[in-house]
Amino acid sequence: MLEALRRVVQEVSAAPDLEHALETTVDRVRSIMATEVCSVYLLDEKRGRYVFRATRGLNQSVVGKVSLGAGEGLVGYVAERAEPLNVEVVTEHPRNQYIAEIGEDEFNAFLGVPIIHQGQTLGVLVVQQRNKRRFDESEEAFLVTLSAQLAGLIAHAKVTGRLSITRRKVSRTFRGAPGAPGVALGVAIVIYPSVDLTQVPFRKVRNVAREVDRFAVAVTETRAEIQVIAEKMAGELQEDTLGLFDAYLLMLDEGAIPKEVVQRIKKGQWAQGALKQTIDEHLARFDLMEDAYLRERANDLRELGNRMLSHLEKRNRRRLHFPKDSILVGDDLSLSDLASVPKERLKGLVSGSGSVNSHLAILAEALGVPTVMGVKDLPMPLIDGGEIVVDGFQGVILTSPTPNQRRQYQKRKEEEAALNRDLERLAPGRCVTPDGHRTRLWVNTGLFSDVARSLDRGAEGVGLYRTEIHFMMNEAFPTEESQRQIYRDHLKGFAPRPVTMRTLDIGGDKSLPYFPIQEENPFLGWRGIRVSLDHPEIFIAQIRAMIRASEGIDCYLRIMLPMVSSVTEIDMAKQLIDQCFQEVREEGADVKRPDIGVMIEVPAAVFQADEILKRVDFLSVGSNDLVQYMLAVDRNNAQVASLYQEFHPSVLKALNQVAAAATLAGKGSGICGEMAGNPGAALLLMAMGYQVLSMNSPNLLVVKKVLTTISLKAAKKVLEQALKLESAQEVKKLVDQTLSQAGLEQLIRNRA
Ligand code: PEP
Ligand code: MG
Repeated sequence: MLEALRRVVQEVSAAPDLEHALETTVDRVRSIMATEVCSVYLLDEKRGRYVFRATRGLNQSVVGKVSLGAGEGLVGYVAERAEPLNVEVVTEHPRNQYIAEIGEDEFNAFLGVPIIHQGQTLGVLVVQQRNKRRFDESEEAFLVTLSAQLAGLIAHAKVTGRLSITRRKVSRTFRGAPGAPGVALGVAIVIYPSVDLTQVPFRKVRNVAREVDRFAVAVTETRAEIQVIAEKMAGELQEDTLGLFDAYLLMLDEGAIPKEVVQRIKKGQWAQGALKQTIDEHLARFDLMEDAYLRERANDLRELGNRMLSHLEKRNRRRLHFPKDSILVGDDLSLSDLASVPKERLKGLVSGSGSVNSHLAILAEALGVPTVMGVKDLPMPLIDGGEIVVDGFQGVILTSPTPNQRRQYQKRKEEEAALNRDLERLAPGRCVTPDGHRTRLWVNTGLFSDVARSLDRGAEGVGLYRTEIHFMMNEAFPTEESQRQIYRDHLKGFAPRPVTMRTLDIGGDKSLPYFPIQEENPFLGWRGIRVSLDHPEIFIAQIRAMIRASEGIDCYLRIMLPMVSSVTEIDMAKQLIDQCFQEVREEGADVKRPDIGVMIEVPAAVFQADEILKRVDFLSVGSNDLVQYMLAVDRNNAQVASLYQEFHPSVLKALNQVAAAATLAGKGSGICGEMAGNPGAALLLMAMGYQVLSMNSPNLLVVKKVLTTISLKAAKKVLEQALKLESAQEVKKLVDQTLSQAGLEQLIRNRA
């Protein structure tokens, strides 16, 4: 059964479009299950009906013309209940509905299974037989398993239509999750891993001769590389294994793969695209082979293709041209991809993975770049270079928008700009509620360019300076001196306002190219303070740089420790910080002792807030991580993004508890996760007693507007009610209602 399943799925995935995929499905299922009928019904979302889309055994001429609503007939019944239905004699089933045109009168036995993708019933797969019988368990299991595997392929084909290159201009909408607010219109620039052929976009070339030459050089280099590897391995591998390298070299012969690639280049395709098309075509043939050994050779071919690609890319990657309205698109964009585009040219960002809490989205928001995260099934190779709209409020993107859509989004962009202009008037004043309560609105920074932008928006200090961003942009650990200069610029930029420098927080989804951390489960692994304490030399250099940076400036340095899960870590870190402070003083620098604080990001720290407070000057909640660890929801996983709930009652209780502990201890408390920049959440946080809300600069004025409109007394009432609610949805509703009643609906209108 496994083998049959695998074959059908492979054949269906090799189909050029949805229609062929469905035809292949019904054809193969009917023959494997030896039934008389196999049909597929697919949901037409606009009409909310399940359309008869492909069949073997029933009337082909009504394909596409007959449909059933959810609940109508046995097919609709399967869709409605989202469960298989196995019936011996259909006419005896109360939900049976007779549709004359379809021609199923003579069939008695019916087995229908829903095709479900991400909780949505996309369609129904049905087999039927004349004999009166129940399909047995193994048949049912086969169909259910197949349907589960097909669901992803069908969903993908439905949205992408497996667009061919000539159909690039088709307007389509793709859904992801909001990453950073705002709307952008521009040109899609696809960034793809340089050794993954599957991601390569198709591009046209004008200078064919140059492209052919480029390819020839890549072939020669690949050949040379394989020969070198083969020679190195000669003493270590068996003869027959070494034969693999000969096979590679044969494939590289002029008459073989290169010949086909060159033919495609001559038709105007760039070398990478021509290579991808050629390798894909061969792979599809390999996949259909029955012989497991031959199928295995497909991997060799893939490997060879990727090798050639990396040689082609060596010269090409750096040459990427960014138009003035670039929208960066990629399945797995990194912070350095983001940094590679000149800021003034970067208008939007679309990531196939991650969610609003990924560091990519956080940085994009800080830069004011509208972003959509976790967009599945984007036909990357085909949208490259096309027009694209990014709606970072709703988490939607549109490829090749129609003139009407373009106008609508342009209008939204202008409305948003007008709202922001209006808010700018609030920048100079303090953030004080109508009943006189003051909250400090600070900013989260990572790049020096954040400084001016934040001050313009009235930031009163820095609540989180993500120092790791500087480390990520470097090619080796930055020296103490280079860190000192960068930190000094930051301190000077904000002086005399407080600047909270977080010590290196790598691990999780933040890696350094020169210090790779390979782990099965990185978010529960070697992260933040754990790395720093294991590498005191790196920690000490950073702390010394921070303290030395403050010399001779009228500034206020605060040092903050990330990912703390026990007081032992604080004690160890404090000891090292003391040591650094003494050293720097002994070296003659006139510096003040910095405040030391801890981030509350791990549930363990919530419950030890009292003990932590005895040791430090302030606490700052990192709600991005705290929510993920409390709810066991990966902050980067788009699949579970709807479960990542900042308004979850348990999260609110934890936050309330931390604020109360800090108030009792008379110590400073703040929050520097994304929650602080959410206008509704900010209201609750102020009511809990947080003195500092630190956020990305684009949110400063929105939050200020809310906190200067609603009184502390009213906010406390809302908090009291919120703490009695039992679900995140109820809390969100309450908060939204409060903002609307205060006349602030415009601030939340665009947000999903
Ligand atoms: C947090 O976890 O809330 C936080 C501010 O840190 P980061 O997002 O950098 O992990
Ligand atoms: Mg964190």
